[in-house]
Amino acid sequence: MKKTKWWLIAIIAALVIIPAGWMLVVQLEGEKPTVLENMPETIGKSQTFTFTLSDKRSGLRKVHAVLLKDGKQWDLLEENFEKVGIVGGGKIRETSIDVPIDLKKLGISDGDAVFELTVWDYSWRNWWHGNKTHMENKLLIDSKPPEIEILTKAHNVNQGGSGLIVYRLSEPCPKNGVVVGENFFPGYSGYFKDDSIHLAFFALDYSQGPGTKITIEASDQAGNNTGSGFYHHIRKKNFVIDSIKLSDQFLSWKIPEFNMQAPENSLNPLLDNFLMVNRNMRKENEQFLATIGIMTEPKMYWEGTFLRLPNSATRAGFADHREYVYNGEVIDRQVHLGIDLASLEKSTIPASNTGKVLFTGDIGIYGKTVVIDHGFGIISMYSHLSGISVEVGQIVAKGETIGRTGITGLAGGDHLHFGMMIHNTMINPIEWWDGNWIMHNVTDKLNDVKAFDLP
Ligand SMILES: [Zn+2]
Repeated sequence: MKKTKWWLIAIIAALVIIPAGWMLVVQLEGEKPTVLENMPETIGKSQTFTFTLSDKRSGLRKVHAVLLKDGKQWDLLEENFEKVGIVGGGKIRETSIDVPIDLKKLGISDGDAVFELTVWDYSWRNWWHGNKTHMENKLLIDSKPPEIEILTKAHNVNQGGSGLIVYRLSEPCPKNGVVVGENFFPGYSGYFKDDSIHLAFFALDYSQGPGTKITIEASDQAGNNTGSGFYHHIRKKNFVIDSIKLSDQFLSWKIPEFNMQAPENSLNPLLDNFLMVNRNMRKENEQFLATIGIMTEPKMYWEGTFLRLPNSATRAGFADHREYVYNGEVIDRQVHLGIDLASLEKSTIPASNTGKVLFTGDIGIYGKTVVIDHGFGIISMYSHLSGISVEVGQIVAKGETIGRTGITGLAGGDHLHFGMMIHNTMINPIEWWDGNWIMHNVTDKLNDVKAFDLP
């Protein structure tokens, strides 16, 4: 009898069992596919969800997306992915899929729904069905655009002036407000007891005259949009043209502190530095002020007429078109976006109205500056100060001293540069110094709407 060659059997066994075992480990991998999602809670008329699917081990086999509502099911997407031979697994390890939902086409009505997505891989687990990842998301289907009901009338706005509109929205809208030209002024709820009533202060900048497009826009959580025009009248304003003579004495006194670097080949470095300050720095400073303005709070801090610096003379007006003359030649043109008020040197400056200090510090050509938020987008600013006596975050009462006038920044003599903004736009402060204007354009409107408000 032949001797059993155990060693041969062992080798054969090893040659079969080891690869088979290895194959089973690979094919029976238990790692589930992953789904990267960014699901909104609300969906509008039609949209497409994009998902990134991946399965690093055995590859993607199948994906199925459905929408469930009122006991019915709609198949949105079913896709099988290719595989490589019998044991190679899925060809695709990672892909992104688009799941389009067109509510009208599918005949789905508004209301609560559930979105489900299931993904399988090419593992042999679960009797060759693969590892499964299943996700469910509750959704609100909303195909209706918001309705805007305008509650105020007589929207008369001056070029460079302010306006107020009050409106009711039929549903919550994360984005709503007034669009003036290219500029957006957000609307706020919270002033009225009824949360659906919103107010928006808006403005025309000095360059926006008759013909400027003004609309209200609202978009709901599902992204449905409504735009609405409203009756308004824009009054054209003509602005003063003012000539400012620049002397070498003024330039050599003021310009070095701005640390500008005129080009090396400059024939008149002092003048070139002045132009850099007057053009580039002015622009940067105005952009910076706009970023402060939008930090306004939805709260009505102010009441009544805004105060003007007491016992002061107006030295320059809002939107004066300034020509800068040097040696008899106009070398620059800029627009003055505030009102210059001169009183005694180092006069104390009262807060023009109650508000919260938004900024204190140096702002280039404006020098030492205080910015106060009066709420709902109404901002006042005080510049060229010699001293500041308030801090950021402090609530100041109307008339409370915030600092003293001075000559910091690009000021030739002691004065206060008083500016006002609506949100991000410089406006003419004189309207806010005028009790009649405030009554007709703000207070009466708010009181009229209170008749619509909740008891
Ligand atoms: Zn000024």
